[in-house]
Amino acid sequence: MDPAPRIAVVEDETDIAEILQYNLQREGFRPEVYHRGDTALAAIEADPPQLVILDLMLPGIDGLEICRHLKRNPRTASIPLVMLTARGEETDRIVGLELGADDYVAKPFNTRELLLRVKAVLRRAGAGRTPSEGPLVAGSLRLFPDAHRVEVEQNEVTLTATEFRLLAHLMQRAGRVQGRETLLREVWGYSSGVDSRTVDTHVRRLRKKLGPESERIETVIGVGYRFHR
Ligand code: CA
Repeated sequence: MDPAPRIAVVEDETDIAEILQYNLQREGFRPEVYHRGDTALAAIEADPPQLVILDLMLPGIDGLEICRHLKRNPRTASIPLVMLTARGEETDRIVGLELGADDYVAKPFNTRELLLRVKAVLRRAGAGRTPSEGPLVAGSLRLFPDAHRVEVEQNEVTLTATEFRLLAHLMQRAGRVQGRETLLREVWGYSSGVDSRTVDTHVRRLRKKLGPESERIETVIGVGYRFHR
């Protein structure tokens, strides 16, 4: 058995942080609580956890800035991020997803729902590393499932855990249209109730990262996406 996953909880409201710490511990995780953005960022970069739960409004450095830093650093870029957003922070939520956060939960949140999201995100991150599968190739784009690595024109492309899962899913089903709802279910692990624009945001970011190979992901208007080999 692997040791229990370490989860950084970055939240300045002590009552919320305590509830999260208590519930994560009860579910067998190892929570590490930080009340300031700057302290949290330093600790996460020094010893990356398996997942980060990130409040956006924080003293020191705010959540979006932390997100930006973590996604820029190859050592921390693939750590799944779940944002905690408050009412009135819809714009920040979209920016966060654009920056590479994997999911968000709006405050006030239901603890059970947050735990389900955390487990789904961890499962997806782990499932991206299915062992002993050969590389998926299309033009200069190569995806190595084992190594969790993607290359375009022999340069490594840094993808988040969700972007990697999404690209692998599309490449494995090349030539077949994948609907947004199907993608949410199979890549994100959600049955319903999640805004399908989440898919569009991730595809847009993925295309940007794929550069010269971006056109392999075709938008099928009103339906979803199709990968071209
Ligand atoms: Ca806050």
